[in-house]
This record gives sequence, C-alpha cells and structure tokens, in this order.
Amino acid sequence: MKKLISVVVPLFNEEKGIKKFLDRELMPALETIQEEIEIVIVDDGSSDKSLDEIKYSEANKKLTIRIISFTRNFGKEIALTAGMREARGDAVIMIDADGQHPANEIHRMLEKWHQGAKVVTAVRNQNTTKHRLGSKLYYMLMRIAGDKNVKEGEMDFRLLDRVVVDEFNKLAEHNRLTRGLINWLGFPQEYIKVSTKDRTTGEPSYNLRKLITLAGDSVVSSSRIPLLIFGYIGIGIMLLSGCTGLFQLIQEYILLDPMHLQWGGGVAVSLFVAFLVGIVLISQSITSIYISQIHAEVKDRPLYVVDKEKSVDLNDEKE
Ligand code: UDP
Ligand code: MG
Repeated sequence: MKKLISVVVPLFNEEKGIKKFLDRELMPALETIQEEIEIVIVDDGSSDKSLDEIKYSEANKKLTIRIISFTRNFGKEIALTAGMREARGDAVIMIDADGQHPANEIHRMLEKWHQGAKVVTAVRNQNTTKHRLGSKLYYMLMRIAGDKNVKEGEMDFRLLDRVVVDEFNKLAEHNRLTRGLINWLGFPQEYIKVSTKDRTTGEPSYNLRKLITLAGDSVVSSSRIPLLIFGYIGIGIMLLSGCTGLFQLIQEYILLDPMHLQWGGGVAVSLFVAFLVGIVLISQSITSIYISQIHAEVKDRPLYVVDKEKSVDLNDEKE
C-alpha cells in the first residue's frame, strides 16, 4: 500500500502569497514524490481572503487539501499543533505559507525518512533573514534557559515520522514551542541545510517585540531556572551572613574581640536581617516552583477552537 505524506501549513492572513506558494512552490515540489499526499492547511483565524485564494488555486484541483479553520487567531504554534493532530500521514511535514521555507527540499527530507530518520529538521545555511539580531538573542535566551538542544538556525520546516507525531499529540501544555517539545520528546534528529529566502509578500507577524515575548515565554515554560535563581541568591545570602554572624559571635562576644574589630550591635542586627532575607528568598523560590507546577497541571482548556463551518475538505466540494 502506498504511504501517505501530510503537509501541514499554518496560515494567517496570507492572501497575497498563498496561491503562489501552493501553485509555484509546493505543488512542483510534490509532483515527483511517490507517496500519496494530503495537505492540511490550518487557518489561524485569517480575516482576509486567504481561504478563497486556496479554493481558486491550481493546487486545489490536483491535490487533496483539507482546511481546519480556527474561530480566532491562536498563534502559529497552536496552528502547527492542530495540523499535527489532523494529519493522517505516515510522515508529517510542516512548512510555512510565506515562501520562506524552500519546498523543493522536501524530497531531501523524504530521502532521510526512507533511510529511517524519525525527525528531519531544516537548518538555515546562513542567517539571511532580517531579524538576525532578534534570532541571535532568541537562541541565546533559549540556551540560558537550559534548552541546550536548540540548534541555531533551526526552522519550523521539518518532517516527523508517525511515531513522533503520535507522541507529540499527547503533549497538552498551552505555552508551547514546537521545536522545544520535539527536542523534549528525545527522538534522534537529522538535519538538512537549506538556504532561506526573505518573505515574498505580506508582513512577518513575528516582529522583534513578539520575538522577545516568545523568548521570555519559552524561558519560563521550558525551565525553572528563573524561579530557582532567587532561591540560589537566598542560599548565598544566608550562607554569607550566617558565617559572618557566627564569626562575629565567636570573635566578639565569646573571645571578647581579640582582633579589635569593634563591630558592635549594629553589625549583628544587619547580619541577622540579611540571614532572614536569605531564608525568605529560599522559601519564596520553593513556593513559586510549587505554583508553577500547579499552574502546569490546571491548564485544562482546549488548545484551540475549530470553526466547523469554515473548515472544509476541499475534495468533498469538488464532487
Ligand atoms: N502564522 C500563523 N499564525 C500567526 C502568525 C503566523 O499561522 O499568528 C503562519 C504564517 O501564515 C506563516 C507562518 O505561520 O505561514 C510563519 O509566519 P511568519 O512568516 O509571520 O513568521 P516567521 O517566518 O517570522 O517565523
Ligand atoms: Mg516567515
């Protein structure tokens, strides 16, 4: 039986470029592929004519396209998640709709997959995009946050085997970053180097501000280091003031100041206060770690809401 490949495309207000992407990039890239293809487009609450553009495209005549439409904009990461849940393929490829990901590299991903790779990620050859500074900063933060696996230039253009997709679909957290989660799953990854293009039409919706928020979010969601930092500071203060206090106690009040430091009561009180501050910081850090874990547990809302009226299997409409 022929295998099925799903191509997941997150889409948000791409009316100017989506047709070109489907007809001139994705379709030619998929023509040479032996497997069956299904395209899953996740419309992330687009408010423009993107959906009509898809219906009028050449690709719609030749390929199997399904559209999952959200009721509002939930963000690209959630759109990718929905796409993975809807995809039925033996392998799932995710690719952006703005033409920045070179669709003609898909056959290289599939080659690796045929050789047994479970995850194939595209890595930027050199950083040609405009927010070079932004992405540098982003990767720096990610590494500080403890996600050491994140590779610079890693793109959201990747292939996942069915076993990986099934595991991925079990992850239910809200604050999610696809690449972080895939790293977390721990399957061995293979990389292909590709060169990227600048966005052909429309505006990138990740500006620097968004990038920084995203980085901040991933720091908090991917590690507890920010919570632990204050605990460490607390331990430091406590040890330092505790030792100094002990020193003063022995030196001044037991041995009666043989070093003639004459620190007196003021210093003793300060050291005691510092010691207490240390304890407070430690206990606060412990509390916040508990809260963060509870927070992770109670996130029980669905990740997104599908607009059933707008979601269509374009193949059904053809008949
Ligand atoms: N996108 C989306 N939801 C959003 C923002 C973007 O589904 O809220 C889609 C967008 O249509 C494109 C992809 O995600 O297919 C990448 O978006 P963009 O080019 O804005 O981001 P960048 O290339 O900077 O990562
Ligand atoms: Mg882009």
